[in-house]
Amino acid sequence: MTRTRTRILVLGGGYVGLYATLMLQRKARKDVDITVLDRRPYMTYQPFLPEVAAGSIEPRHAVVPLRKELSGVKVIQGRVTQIRHADRVVDAATDFGDTLHVEYDEVILALGSVARTLPIPGLKEFAIGFKYVEEAINLRNRVLGRIARAASTGDPRLRKRLLTFVFVGGGFAGIEAFAETEDMAKAALRYYPEIDPKELRFIMVEAMGRILPELGPEMGEYAAKQMRARGTEVLMETKLESCVEGYVELSNGDSFEADTVVWTAGVKPSPLMGKSDLPLGPKGHVICSPTLQVTTEEGDVVPGAWAAGDCAQVPDLTKEQPAYCAPSAQHAVRQARHLGKNVARHLHERPLRQYSHKHLGLVASLGLNKGVANALGIKLKGWPAWFMHRTYHLMQIPTFNRKARIALDWTAAAFFRRDLVSMGRLHDPRRAFEEAAGS
Ligand SMILES: Cc1cc2nc3c(=O)[nH]c(=O)nc-3n(C[C@H](O)[C@H](O)[C@H](O)COP(=O)(O)OP(=O)(O)OC[C@H]3O[C@@H](n4cnc5c(N)ncnc54)[C@H](O)[C@@H]3O)c2cc1C
Repeated sequence: MTRTRTRILVLGGGYVGLYATLMLQRKARKDVDITVLDRRPYMTYQPFLPEVAAGSIEPRHAVVPLRKELSGVKVIQGRVTQIRHADRVVDAATDFGDTLHVEYDEVILALGSVARTLPIPGLKEFAIGFKYVEEAINLRNRVLGRIARAASTGDPRLRKRLLTFVFVGGGFAGIEAFAETEDMAKAALRYYPEIDPKELRFIMVEAMGRILPELGPEMGEYAAKQMRARGTEVLMETKLESCVEGYVELSNGDSFEADTVVWTAGVKPSPLMGKSDLPLGPKGHVICSPTLQVTTEEGDVVPGAWAAGDCAQVPDLTKEQPAYCAPSAQHAVRQARHLGKNVARHLHERPLRQYSHKHLGLVASLGLNKGVANALGIKLKGWPAWFMHRTYHLMQIPTFNRKARIALDWTAAAFFRRDLVSMGRLHDPRRAFEEAAGS
């Protein structure tokens, strides 16, 4: 029997996976079967993670459940382990140890990126990342938990260690996480008269001579000045050399103990790209044409394979070639919609269109009521930038449901102040029961 339906497999249900699928549902023929395969059952709206860590947004509200939003689409929760495009099969593993082999006719690669780490002693064992909602929840509980422990210890060395927080990498994700968490930690100290706010040490370590390069030198300098005026340490042209068991050594010769080291020093394409038989660029991205089709190095289209977002090397046609789109939500959303339309055009045997988008700039939050922006040629500082940040992201987060819930989170925080309770025990849920059973 001949198969008449086209099987489209979307790998990754993040920005690209979600938006491309929504577009395909609208534009593709009715005889397509779409499957989305992601290790998580939700899309994470990453620009809100710093506010999740700061307690301004409920963690559940910063994620979009895939099954609810993608009705009519098959959603598989599993981890892609290999892409065998020559056989049109993807291997995946479930959390329960089952192995899946998912066949397809067209594949969309939307696996995003992972933290770009370096072989620094202690980094893998001691540091934490900041890319997923569980990491944001963990960071919040960790910071509030360390403050609570510092307040109850009589050991001055331990207290100093608990109250020292190091962030490595001053791009927008790192600076937002740093600024929002510091703002929350300071707010929490209001309830800890045992701790002098001067004891709190927040240190940003940046290898280059500037922070927030995406916003340009003027805004980067403003942000650094702002952060220093708040009492944080912003160290530039400084590298983390080691953090074995929390003993931090920096390239400027400084060394100290810190109980928390957060690594936010950039991303690299998903290592899964290397486990595929598809052509890769020099940095490990899958190579794409401006039509978002996967191509060989020579530019020949690989039939049946499409890609976009952080895992893809997409030419930036607004710049002199060769130039590629930076990994950002702004590109990911637009590429995803473009990709969805192009796959539909391909199925309808219509000509494909090229992706071209001039980056509009960025807005970054530096904590409650503080921000910095350089968007559409407009430079803003302080409250107007922060307001723009909130408005922009509220408009961008998918679904009315999430927009409404986040607007309510912010409204509640405006009336009742932000919630500063630590739920550290979340990470050890069986302890109370074990103690009860043991006694
Ligand atoms: C803290 C933070 C703040 C940010 N703020 C901004 C901002 O303000 N503005 C901006 O433009 N950009 C921002 N970004 C960048 C932006 O979020 C990314 O560029 C965007 O998410 C890329 O979209 P994507 O679809 O390529 O990847 P993602 O959205 O990361 O999606 C990848 C998906 O693949 C899944 N996946 C990964 N590996 C596997 C596997 N093996 N098997 C199955 N599924 C897998 C993941 O679970 C995820 O759902 C921020 C990023 C971070 C981390």
